[in-house]
Formats: sequence, structure tokens, C-alpha cells
Amino acid sequence: MKAFAQSLQNVKAYICPVDFYRSELPAMPPPRGSGWRDGGLCPFHSDKQTGSFRVNLETGAFLCFSCGSKGGDIIAFIQQRDGLSFPDALQKLIDEWGI
Ligand SMILES: [Zn+2]
Repeated sequence: MKAFAQSLQNVKAYICPVDFYRSELPAMPPPRGSGWRDGGLCPFHSDKQTGSFRVNLETGAFLCFSCGSKGGDIIAFIQQRDGLSFPDALQKLIDEWGI
């Protein structure tokens, strides 16, 4: 479990939520500042109009006012979007970001 905790720490230290959401959310407007921002189209329902999906560029948390999807960090985002367990989502981030 020690290695697992270390990976989690590495992922959180290495992947900045701004970079993460810029690559995962092509419809997100260019982020200015930090905190809660417009995330563009929600990836959790068939969103046709921006405005209801918000991401927090400091913590990686996300929230959709339309479908109610929410999570506290980028790992939760991957888990819910891709239907993965926590360890699998963590591994996916490690692989994709070359950590
Ligand atoms: Zn949504």
C-alpha cells in the first residue's frame, strides 16, 4: 500500500489540474485565474450548450449543474468518465502522463 500512496502523491504533484482539464476538455475556454471556471461541455451527459459544467483549476474538482456529476479531483474525473476503479484510474493517469 505504500507504493500506492506514493503513486497517488506523485500524480497529484505532477499533474496540474489546469493542464489536465485543458487536455481533457477541448471545449473549455482558455482558463484565466484559478478556482472555479467554466469547463465548457460536460463530458458526463450529452451536453450541447456550455455553461453548466464547472471545474476547479486549483483542486481538480468538477461539478455539473445539469446532470449532477461531481467529484473532488482529477482521479474522480477519470473514474467517472471512463468507469474505472480508483486504482485503475490512477494507473491510467500514470501511463498517460508518463509519471
Ligand atoms: Zn453534465
